[in-house]
Amino acid sequence: MDNKFPGKDISDSDLKDKFPLAAKKFTNHYSKFKVCGIEFGGKKIPVMAGPNMVENLSMIRKTATSVKKSGASFLRGGAYKPLTFPYRSKKYFETREEGVHWLSIVKKEIKIPVITEILDVRDIDHVCKVTDIIQIGSRNMQNYPLLTECAKTMKPIMIKRHYGASLRDWLGAAEYVLFEGNKKVMLCERGVSVTHTHRSTSRFLLDLQVVPAIKEISHLPVIVDPSHATFWRPWVKDMTLASIASGADGIMLEVHPDPENSAVDPLQPISFRSFSKLMNQMKKVAKSIGRKI
Ligand code: PEP
Ligand code: MN
Repeated sequence: MDNKFPGKDISDSDLKDKFPLAAKKFTNHYSKFKVCGIEFGGKKIPVMAGPNMVENLSMIRKTATSVKKSGASFLRGGAYKPLTFPYRSKKYFETREEGVHWLSIVKKEIKIPVITEILDVRDIDHVCKVTDIIQIGSRNMQNYPLLTECAKTMKPIMIKRHYGASLRDWLGAAEYVLFEGNKKVMLCERGVSVTHTHRSTSRFLLDLQVVPAIKEISHLPVIVDPSHATFWRPWVKDMTLASIASGADGIMLEVHPDPENSAVDPLQPISFRSFSKLMNQMKKVAKSIGRKI
């Protein structure tokens, strides 16, 4: 079908010419691959949980222990952070090399695989010694040199959707990774910019419609991050359950030992207790659609 707005949404010819590797080849074509023994794209829905930022060793150790006990498969946590403003303070900072080092300690101690963001090609070598999945942040979704260099490491890569990106742009980014021969690619919906978000502190709207839309045309697993999308703790539970119902292949959640005092984005992380409760609720929704947490 021809597109009324060429360049924005996906036309039939895009599937052949623009992202032949990301496009499905047949109706039930869904990629499945394992990361540290955990399957993505199958019946089970892996959960990645942890703080926005790896603030110090003690908090990441506590968080890893707690989220693993509640059933999370991966520890999330940024050390290199794409902070919106350049000014740093006691409350607004990045832990960079130190944060990556703390992740490496906890990963060994607690035996939980890790996902962390890479912002700059210069950090690829040392971050890849620790991380099991490379996170490409929403702001870097179309940083093609970064995507290409990260792809060459052959590490699994999760590409967060830019908050202004069409599905066409997003699959174009995934195609850059697939083009390098790296097949372990997953997409992550984390909210888009729209006119109304229903709260003055919420910057984005979770686009769950994109999950079935992806599954119609692409075989790549889709993760949903309701924490960044809602930016608001009280909404995280409902949007997480809705994400599972929408067909998400994975969930990323911000969990913090002291949510109100999180160094970055304190309105969105949930507590250890809420996370543990939510895991049980997720299991019920997953079961109702023939999947597992
Ligand atoms: C994050 O997950 O820590 C993050 C910065 O997310 P996003 O790129 O979606 O803003
Ligand atoms: Mn953030």
